[in-house]
Amino acid sequence: MALPSLDHTRSEAEFARAKQLIPGGVNSPARAFGGVGGNPVFIERGAEAYLYDIDGNRYVDYIGSWGPHILGHRHPLIVKSLENALLRGTSFGAPTVQESELAELIIEAVPSVERVRMVNSGTEATMSAVRLARGYTGRNVIIKFAGCYHGHVDSLLVSAGSGALTHGVPSSPGIPAGATQDTLILEYNDIEGLKAAFAARGSEIAGIILEPVVGNMGVVVPVAGFLESCRELCTQHGSVLIFDEVMTGFRVAHGGAQQRFGVTPDLTTLGKIVGGGLPVGAYGGKKEIMDSISPVGPVYQAGTLSGNPLAMAGGLGMLTALKALDPYEELERKTTVLTQGLGEAATKAGIPHSIAQVGSMFTLFFNPEPVTSYSISAKNDTAAFAKFFHAMLNQGIYLPCSQFEAVFVSAAHSEVDIAITIEAANRVFANW
Ligand SMILES: *Cc1c(COP(=O)(O)O)cnc(C)c1O
Repeated sequence: MALPSLDHTRSEAEFARAKQLIPGGVNSPARAFGGVGGNPVFIERGAEAYLYDIDGNRYVDYIGSWGPHILGHRHPLIVKSLENALLRGTSFGAPTVQESELAELIIEAVPSVERVRMVNSGTEATMSAVRLARGYTGRNVIIKFAGCYHGHVDSLLVSAGSGALTHGVPSSPGIPAGATQDTLILEYNDIEGLKAAFAARGSEIAGIILEPVVGNMGVVVPVAGFLESCRELCTQHGSVLIFDEVMTGFRVAHGGAQQRFGVTPDLTTLGKIVGGGLPVGAYGGKKEIMDSISPVGPVYQAGTLSGNPLAMAGGLGMLTALKALDPYEELERKTTVLTQGLGEAATKAGIPHSIAQVGSMFTLFFNPEPVTSYSISAKNDTAAFAKFFHAMLNQGIYLPCSQFEAVFVSAAHSEVDIAITIEAANRVFANW
Protein backbone atom coordinates (compact mmCIF):
# COMPACT_ATOMS: atom_id res chain seq x y z
CA MET A 1 0.00 0.00 0.00
CA ALA A 2 1.39 3.37 -0.97
CA LEU A 3 1.72 5.87 1.84
CA PRO A 4 -0.18 9.16 1.60
CA SER A 5 1.41 12.39 0.49
CA LEU A 6 0.19 15.78 1.74
CA ASP A 7 -0.31 18.86 -0.41
CA HIS A 8 2.33 21.50 0.41
CA THR A 9 1.75 23.84 -2.53
CA ARG A 10 1.42 27.03 -0.50
CA SER A 11 4.31 26.20 1.80
CA GLU A 12 6.50 25.62 -1.24
CA ALA A 13 5.55 29.00 -2.70
CA GLU A 14 6.14 30.77 0.61
CA PHE A 15 9.51 29.08 1.03
CA ALA A 16 10.55 30.28 -2.43
CA ARG A 17 9.52 33.82 -1.44
CA ALA A 18 11.23 33.65 1.96
CA LYS A 19 14.49 32.56 0.35
CA GLN A 20 14.52 35.83 -1.60
CA LEU A 21 14.24 37.79 1.65
CA ILE A 22 15.85 35.84 4.48
CA PRO A 23 19.07 33.79 4.22
CA GLY A 24 17.90 30.26 3.43
CA GLY A 25 14.34 31.39 4.04
CA VAL A 26 14.59 30.82 7.80
CA ASN A 27 15.56 32.74 10.91
CA SER A 28 17.24 29.72 12.50
CA PRO A 29 18.94 27.05 10.39
CA ALA A 30 17.44 24.06 12.23
CA ARG A 31 14.08 24.85 10.62
CA ALA A 32 15.29 24.60 7.03
CA PHE A 33 15.01 20.78 6.71
CA GLY A 34 18.73 20.74 5.86
CA GLY A 35 19.22 17.39 7.56
CA VAL A 36 16.35 15.66 5.76
CA GLY A 37 16.01 17.49 2.43
CA GLY A 38 12.83 18.95 0.99
CA ASN A 39 10.98 22.14 1.86
CA PRO A 40 9.94 23.26 5.33
CA VAL A 41 6.26 23.51 6.12
CA PHE A 42 4.93 26.99 6.95
CA ILE A 43 2.82 27.09 10.08
CA GLU A 44 -0.35 29.09 10.39
CA ARG A 45 -1.23 28.32 14.01
CA GLY A 46 -0.91 25.88 16.86
CA ALA A 47 -3.51 24.52 19.28
CA GLU A 48 -2.88 22.03 22.08
CA ALA A 49 -0.84 19.16 20.60
CA TYR A 50 -1.32 20.23 16.98
CA LEU A 51 0.27 22.40 14.33
CA TYR A 52 -1.73 23.64 11.34
CA ASP A 53 0.12 24.59 8.17
CA ILE A 54 -0.90 27.17 5.57
CA ASP A 55 -2.09 24.41 3.21
CA GLY A 56 -4.64 23.31 5.79
CA ASN A 57 -2.79 20.18 6.97
CA ARG A 58 -2.85 19.22 10.66
CA TYR A 59 0.08 17.61 12.42
CA VAL A 60 0.61 16.03 15.81
CA ASP A 61 3.44 18.28 16.98
CA TYR A 62 6.49 16.62 18.54
CA ILE A 63 8.84 19.60 18.42
CA GLY A 64 6.85 21.95 20.65
CA SER A 65 8.84 24.89 19.27
CA TRP A 66 12.02 22.87 20.00
CA GLY A 67 11.20 22.50 23.67
CA PRO A 68 9.12 25.29 25.19
CA HIS A 69 5.59 23.90 24.70
CA ILE A 70 5.56 21.24 27.40
CA LEU A 71 1.88 22.09 27.94
CA GLY A 72 1.05 22.21 24.23
CA HIS A 73 0.14 25.33 22.26
CA ARG A 74 -1.84 28.21 23.75
CA HIS A 75 -2.36 26.84 27.24
CA PRO A 76 -5.16 29.00 28.75
CA LEU A 77 -3.08 30.08 31.78
CA ILE A 78 -0.27 31.31 29.53
CA VAL A 79 -2.65 33.07 27.13
CA LYS A 80 -4.42 34.83 30.02
CA SER A 81 -1.13 35.92 31.56
CA LEU A 82 0.01 37.34 28.20
CA GLU A 83 -3.28 39.13 27.57
CA ASN A 84 -3.08 40.87 30.94
CA ALA A 85 0.52 41.92 30.36
CA LEU A 86 -0.15 43.22 26.86
CA LEU A 87 -2.78 45.62 28.16
CA ARG A 88 -0.29 47.11 30.66
CA GLY A 89 2.38 47.83 28.06
CA THR A 90 5.10 45.97 26.19
CA SER A 91 8.32 47.34 27.68
CA PHE A 92 9.36 49.94 30.24
CA GLY A 93 13.12 49.65 30.77
CA ALA A 94 12.46 49.89 34.50
CA PRO A 95 11.87 47.21 37.15
CA THR A 96 8.53 45.39 37.38
CA VAL A 97 7.05 43.15 40.06
CA GLN A 98 6.66 40.36 37.50
CA GLU A 99 10.45 39.97 37.21
CA SER A 100 10.65 39.15 40.91
CA GLU A 101 7.66 36.84 40.66
CA LEU A 102 9.26 34.79 37.90
CA ALA A 103 12.60 34.80 39.74
CA GLU A 104 10.83 33.46 42.84
CA LEU A 105 9.22 30.62 40.90
CA ILE A 106 12.59 29.65 39.38
CA ILE A 107 14.41 29.79 42.72
CA GLU A 108 11.69 27.73 44.37
CA ALA A 109 11.84 25.05 41.65
CA VAL A 110 15.63 24.92 41.29
CA PRO A 111 17.19 25.17 44.76
CA SER A 112 20.79 25.55 43.49
CA VAL A 113 19.64 28.89 42.06
CA GLU A 114 19.79 31.54 44.78
CA ARG A 115 19.94 34.54 42.45
CA VAL A 116 18.81 34.64 38.83
CA ARG A 117 19.30 37.08 35.96
CA MET A 118 16.88 37.18 33.01
CA VAL A 119 18.13 37.46 29.43
CA ASN A 120 16.51 37.03 26.01
CA SER A 121 17.69 33.63 24.78
CA GLY A 122 19.48 30.47 25.78
CA THR A 123 22.54 31.68 23.90
CA GLU A 124 22.70 34.82 26.01
CA ALA A 125 22.35 32.74 29.16
CA THR A 126 25.27 30.42 28.36
CA MET A 127 27.43 33.27 27.05
CA SER A 128 26.86 35.18 30.28
CA ALA A 129 27.38 32.15 32.52
CA VAL A 130 30.72 31.41 30.88
CA ARG A 131 31.82 35.03 31.25
CA LEU A 132 30.77 34.92 34.89
CA ALA A 133 32.65 31.67 35.57
CA ARG A 134 35.77 33.22 34.06
CA GLY A 135 35.34 36.54 35.84
CA TYR A 136 34.63 34.91 39.18
CA THR A 137 37.58 32.48 39.07
CA GLY A 138 40.02 34.75 37.23
CA ARG A 139 40.76 31.79 34.94
CA ASN A 140 40.18 31.28 31.21
CA VAL A 141 39.80 27.60 30.34
CA ILE A 142 36.30 26.21 29.83
CA ILE A 143 35.65 22.50 29.36
CA LYS A 144 32.96 21.66 26.84
CA PHE A 145 31.88 18.23 25.63
CA ALA A 146 31.70 17.18 22.00
CA GLY A 147 28.14 17.14 20.73
CA CYS A 148 26.76 19.44 23.43
CA TYR A 149 25.21 22.61 22.02
CA HIS A 150 25.17 25.78 24.08
CA GLY A 151 23.83 28.26 21.56
CA HIS A 152 25.87 30.18 19.01
CA VAL A 153 28.37 31.67 21.47
CA ASP A 154 31.78 32.13 19.81
CA SER A 155 33.78 30.36 22.51
CA LEU A 156 31.35 27.44 22.65
CA LEU A 157 30.72 26.92 18.95
CA VAL A 158 33.38 24.31 18.71
CA SER A 159 32.43 21.01 17.29
CA ALA A 160 34.88 18.43 18.19
CA GLY A 161 35.09 15.11 16.49
CA SER A 162 37.99 14.35 18.71
CA GLY A 163 38.02 13.51 22.35
CA ALA A 164 41.67 14.40 22.55
CA LEU A 165 42.97 17.06 24.84
CA THR A 166 43.36 19.53 22.05
CA HIS A 167 42.49 23.17 21.72
CA GLY A 168 39.09 23.59 20.16
CA VAL A 169 38.90 24.42 16.49
CA PRO A 170 36.00 26.79 15.68
CA SER A 171 33.20 25.10 13.76
CA SER A 172 32.14 28.27 11.93
CA PRO A 173 33.99 30.78 9.80
CA GLY A 174 33.96 34.17 11.48
CA ILE A 175 35.12 32.85 14.81
CA PRO A 176 38.79 33.68 15.34
CA ALA A 177 40.90 30.86 16.74
CA GLY A 178 41.57 33.16 19.68
CA ALA A 179 37.92 32.94 20.70
CA THR A 180 38.11 29.19 21.17
CA GLN A 181 41.71 28.71 22.25
CA ASP A 182 40.63 28.39 25.86
CA THR A 183 37.83 25.92 25.13
CA LEU A 184 38.85 22.37 25.90
CA ILE A 185 36.78 19.70 24.11
CA LEU A 186 36.28 16.35 25.77
CA GLU A 187 34.12 13.32 24.99
CA TYR A 188 30.78 13.21 26.82
CA ASN A 189 30.59 10.46 29.47
CA ASP A 190 34.40 10.00 29.45
CA ILE A 191 35.18 10.19 33.15
CA GLU A 192 38.85 9.23 32.71
CA GLY A 193 39.37 11.93 30.06
CA LEU A 194 37.85 14.48 32.38
CA LYS A 195 40.10 13.47 35.27
CA ALA A 196 43.14 13.66 32.99
CA ALA A 197 42.19 17.18 31.88
CA PHE A 198 41.94 18.38 35.46
CA ALA A 199 45.17 16.61 36.40
CA ALA A 200 46.95 18.41 33.55
CA ARG A 201 45.40 21.88 33.79
CA GLY A 202 43.21 22.05 36.92
CA SER A 203 44.48 25.42 38.11
CA GLU A 204 43.62 27.04 34.73
CA ILE A 205 40.07 25.67 34.48
CA ALA A 206 37.38 28.29 35.09
CA GLY A 207 34.59 25.79 34.69
CA ILE A 208 32.79 22.98 32.94
CA ILE A 209 29.68 23.64 30.86
CA LEU A 210 27.52 20.70 29.88
CA GLU A 211 24.01 19.53 29.09
CA PRO A 212 23.29 17.25 32.06
CA VAL A 213 21.12 15.23 29.67
CA VAL A 214 22.17 15.96 26.10
CA GLY A 215 19.45 16.88 23.65
CA ASN A 216 21.57 18.27 20.85
CA MET A 217 23.27 15.16 19.45
CA GLY A 218 20.00 13.34 19.92
CA VAL A 219 19.20 12.41 23.50
CA VAL A 220 22.28 11.14 25.33
CA VAL A 221 21.97 10.07 28.94
CA PRO A 222 24.82 10.70 31.39
CA VAL A 223 26.40 7.39 32.50
CA ALA A 224 26.48 6.61 36.22
CA GLY A 225 29.14 8.72 37.90
CA PHE A 226 29.64 11.20 35.05
CA LEU A 227 27.75 14.16 36.51
CA GLU A 228 29.13 13.31 39.97
CA SER A 229 32.68 13.37 38.59
CA CYS A 230 32.07 16.78 37.02
CA ARG A 231 30.87 18.00 40.42
CA GLU A 232 33.76 16.52 42.41
CA LEU A 233 36.48 17.74 40.07
CA CYS A 234 35.09 21.27 40.01
CA THR A 235 34.88 21.33 43.79
CA GLN A 236 38.44 20.00 44.18
CA HIS A 237 39.92 22.48 41.73
CA GLY A 238 37.87 25.58 42.54
CA SER A 239 36.19 25.52 39.11
CA VAL A 240 32.58 26.48 38.39
CA LEU A 241 30.18 23.72 37.32
CA ILE A 242 27.60 25.05 34.82
CA PHE A 243 24.61 22.89 33.95
CA ASP A 244 23.13 24.10 30.70
CA GLU A 245 19.50 23.28 31.40
CA VAL A 246 18.10 25.42 28.60
CA MET A 247 16.46 22.25 27.27
CA THR A 248 16.21 20.04 30.37
CA GLY A 249 15.04 22.73 32.82
CA PHE A 250 11.36 22.20 33.71
CA ARG A 251 11.45 19.32 31.18
CA VAL A 252 13.03 16.18 32.68
CA ALA A 253 11.70 17.13 36.14
CA HIS A 254 10.24 20.27 37.65
CA GLY A 255 13.69 21.09 39.03
CA GLY A 256 15.47 19.96 35.86
CA ALA A 257 18.19 17.35 35.43
CA GLN A 258 19.88 18.45 38.64
CA GLN A 259 16.81 17.33 40.58
CA ARG A 260 16.44 14.12 38.60
CA PHE A 261 20.09 13.08 39.00
CA GLY A 262 20.71 14.64 42.41
CA VAL A 263 23.83 16.57 41.36
CA THR A 264 24.07 20.26 42.23
CA PRO A 265 25.79 22.69 39.86
CA ASP A 266 27.15 26.13 40.79
CA LEU A 267 25.43 27.86 37.89
CA THR A 268 22.41 26.88 35.80
CA THR A 269 21.32 28.23 32.45
CA LEU A 270 17.66 28.15 31.47
CA GLY A 271 15.63 28.99 28.38
CA LYS A 272 12.90 27.40 26.25
CA ILE A 273 10.19 26.30 28.76
CA VAL A 274 11.04 29.10 31.21
CA GLY A 275 9.64 31.65 28.73
CA GLY A 276 6.43 29.81 27.96
CA GLY A 277 7.06 30.26 24.23
CA LEU A 278 8.41 33.82 24.42
CA PRO A 279 12.10 34.69 23.97
CA VAL A 280 13.51 34.21 27.47
CA GLY A 281 16.76 32.91 28.88
CA ALA A 282 18.00 32.98 32.44
CA TYR A 283 21.13 32.15 34.34
CA GLY A 284 21.46 31.76 38.06
CA GLY A 285 23.20 29.99 40.87
CA LYS A 286 25.06 30.51 44.09
CA LYS A 287 24.63 33.97 45.53
CA GLU A 288 28.36 34.29 46.07
CA ILE A 289 29.06 33.73 42.37
CA MET A 290 26.07 35.70 41.05
CA ASP A 291 27.16 38.70 43.12
CA SER A 292 30.09 39.10 40.74
CA ILE A 293 27.66 40.39 38.10
CA SER A 294 27.11 44.06 37.40
CA PRO A 295 25.80 46.18 39.11
CA VAL A 296 26.82 44.29 42.31
CA GLY A 297 30.15 43.07 40.96
CA PRO A 298 32.54 43.81 38.10
CA VAL A 299 31.42 41.21 35.49
CA TYR A 300 29.38 43.17 32.95
CA GLN A 301 26.14 41.86 31.47
CA ALA A 302 23.07 43.84 30.39
CA GLY A 303 20.03 43.84 28.10
CA THR A 304 17.61 46.56 26.96
CA LEU A 305 14.70 44.12 26.75
CA SER A 306 15.84 41.69 29.47
CA GLY A 307 13.00 40.92 31.86
CA ASN A 308 10.57 42.20 29.24
CA PRO A 309 6.99 42.29 30.59
CA LEU A 310 5.50 40.09 27.88
CA ALA A 311 8.33 37.60 28.17
CA MET A 312 7.94 37.51 31.96
CA ALA A 313 4.21 36.97 31.54
CA GLY A 314 4.86 33.99 29.27
CA GLY A 315 7.19 32.50 31.87
CA LEU A 316 4.87 33.28 34.76
CA GLY A 317 1.92 31.63 33.02
CA MET A 318 4.03 28.57 32.25
CA LEU A 319 5.67 28.09 35.65
CA THR A 320 2.41 28.76 37.52
CA ALA A 321 0.67 26.15 35.38
CA LEU A 322 3.49 23.61 35.82
CA LYS A 323 3.46 24.06 39.57
CA ALA A 324 -0.31 23.54 39.71
CA LEU A 325 -0.47 20.64 37.25
CA ASP A 326 2.74 18.74 38.13
CA PRO A 327 2.53 16.87 34.79
CA TYR A 328 5.88 15.05 34.99
CA GLU A 329 4.87 11.50 35.97
CA GLU A 330 2.09 11.40 33.44
CA LEU A 331 4.35 12.86 30.74
CA GLU A 332 6.97 10.20 31.34
CA ARG A 333 4.41 7.41 31.32
CA LYS A 334 2.94 8.60 28.00
CA THR A 335 6.38 9.05 26.48
CA THR A 336 7.36 5.54 27.51
CA VAL A 337 4.27 4.14 25.76
CA LEU A 338 5.38 6.02 22.64
CA THR A 339 9.04 4.95 22.72
CA GLN A 340 8.08 1.31 23.36
CA GLY A 341 5.62 1.42 20.47
CA LEU A 342 8.16 2.95 18.10
CA GLY A 343 10.82 0.49 19.23
CA GLU A 344 8.52 -2.49 18.64
CA ALA A 345 7.58 -1.17 15.19
CA ALA A 346 11.26 -0.83 14.22
CA THR A 347 12.17 -4.23 15.67
CA LYS A 348 9.31 -5.96 13.86
CA ALA A 349 10.57 -4.54 10.56
CA GLY A 350 14.19 -5.47 11.34
CA ILE A 351 15.37 -1.87 11.37
CA PRO A 352 18.60 -1.31 13.33
CA HIS A 353 17.90 1.28 16.00
CA SER A 354 18.35 2.32 19.60
CA ILE A 355 16.24 4.63 21.73
CA ALA A 356 17.29 7.03 24.48
CA GLN A 357 14.60 8.58 26.69
CA VAL A 358 14.66 10.77 29.77
CA GLY A 359 11.23 11.88 30.97
CA SER A 360 9.34 13.42 28.05
CA MET A 361 12.30 13.80 25.68
CA PHE A 362 13.70 11.02 23.50
CA THR A 363 15.47 10.14 20.28
CA LEU A 364 14.90 7.16 18.02
CA PHE A 365 18.42 6.63 16.65
CA PHE A 366 18.88 4.81 13.37
CA ASN A 367 21.93 3.23 14.94
CA PRO A 368 22.06 -0.22 16.54
CA GLU A 369 24.49 0.96 19.23
CA PRO A 370 23.32 2.79 22.33
CA VAL A 371 24.39 6.40 21.75
CA THR A 372 26.48 7.61 24.69
CA SER A 373 28.79 10.07 22.96
CA TYR A 374 29.28 12.20 19.89
CA SER A 375 31.55 9.68 18.17
CA ILE A 376 28.78 7.07 18.36
CA SER A 377 26.06 9.53 17.38
CA ALA A 378 28.12 10.46 14.32
CA LYS A 379 27.47 6.91 13.02
CA ASN A 380 23.67 7.35 12.89
CA ASP A 381 22.08 6.44 9.55
CA THR A 382 20.86 9.92 8.65
CA ALA A 383 19.47 8.78 5.27
CA ALA A 384 17.20 6.30 7.07
CA PHE A 385 16.14 9.05 9.44
CA ALA A 386 15.31 11.40 6.54
CA LYS A 387 13.13 8.73 4.96
CA PHE A 388 11.36 8.12 8.27
CA PHE A 389 10.89 11.85 8.90
CA HIS A 390 9.21 12.56 5.56
CA ALA A 391 7.03 9.46 5.68
CA MET A 392 5.82 10.46 9.16
CA LEU A 393 5.27 14.09 8.11
CA ASN A 394 3.11 12.91 5.23
CA GLN A 395 0.96 11.07 7.74
CA GLY A 396 0.51 14.16 9.87
CA ILE A 397 3.22 13.49 12.45
CA TYR A 398 5.61 16.42 12.88
CA LEU A 399 8.96 15.19 14.24
CA PRO A 400 12.13 17.30 14.59
CA CYS A 401 13.74 17.50 11.15
CA SER A 402 17.10 16.12 12.24
CA GLN A 403 18.36 12.84 13.65
CA PHE A 404 20.41 14.89 16.12
CA GLU A 405 17.46 16.45 17.94
CA ALA A 406 15.18 15.42 20.76
CA VAL A 407 11.52 14.58 20.29
CA PHE A 408 9.30 16.32 22.87
CA VAL A 409 6.03 15.00 24.24
CA SER A 410 3.67 17.50 25.84
CA ALA A 411 0.87 17.30 28.38
CA ALA A 412 -1.50 18.12 25.51
CA HIS A 413 -0.76 14.83 23.67
CA SER A 414 -3.65 12.44 24.23
CA GLU A 415 -3.53 8.64 24.36
CA VAL A 416 -5.09 8.75 20.89
CA ASP A 417 -2.34 11.04 19.56
CA ILE A 418 0.27 8.60 20.86
CA ALA A 419 -1.56 5.59 19.40
CA ILE A 420 -1.92 7.33 16.01
CA THR A 421 1.79 8.06 16.02
CA ILE A 422 2.70 4.44 16.70
CA GLU A 423 0.33 3.26 13.97
CA ALA A 424 1.91 5.70 11.52
CA ALA A 425 5.36 4.37 12.37
CA ASN A 426 4.16 0.80 11.86
CA ARG A 427 2.85 1.71 8.42
CA VAL A 428 6.09 3.48 7.52
CA PHE A 429 8.28 0.58 8.59
CA ALA A 430 5.98 -1.99 6.93
CA ASN A 431 6.54 -0.08 3.67
CA TRP A 432 10.27 0.41 4.31
C1 LIG B 1 18.43 25.62 22.64
C2 LIG B 1 19.64 25.52 23.48
C3 LIG B 1 20.50 26.61 23.68
C4 LIG B 1 20.34 27.90 22.92
O1 LIG B 1 19.17 28.57 23.23
P1 LIG B 1 18.64 29.69 22.18
O2 LIG B 1 17.43 30.24 22.85
O3 LIG B 1 18.36 28.95 20.91
O4 LIG B 1 19.71 30.69 22.02
C5 LIG B 1 21.53 26.48 24.58
N1 LIG B 1 21.72 25.33 25.24
C6 LIG B 1 20.92 24.25 25.08
C7 LIG B 1 21.17 23.02 25.86
C8 LIG B 1 19.87 24.30 24.18
O5 LIG B 1 19.10 23.22 23.98
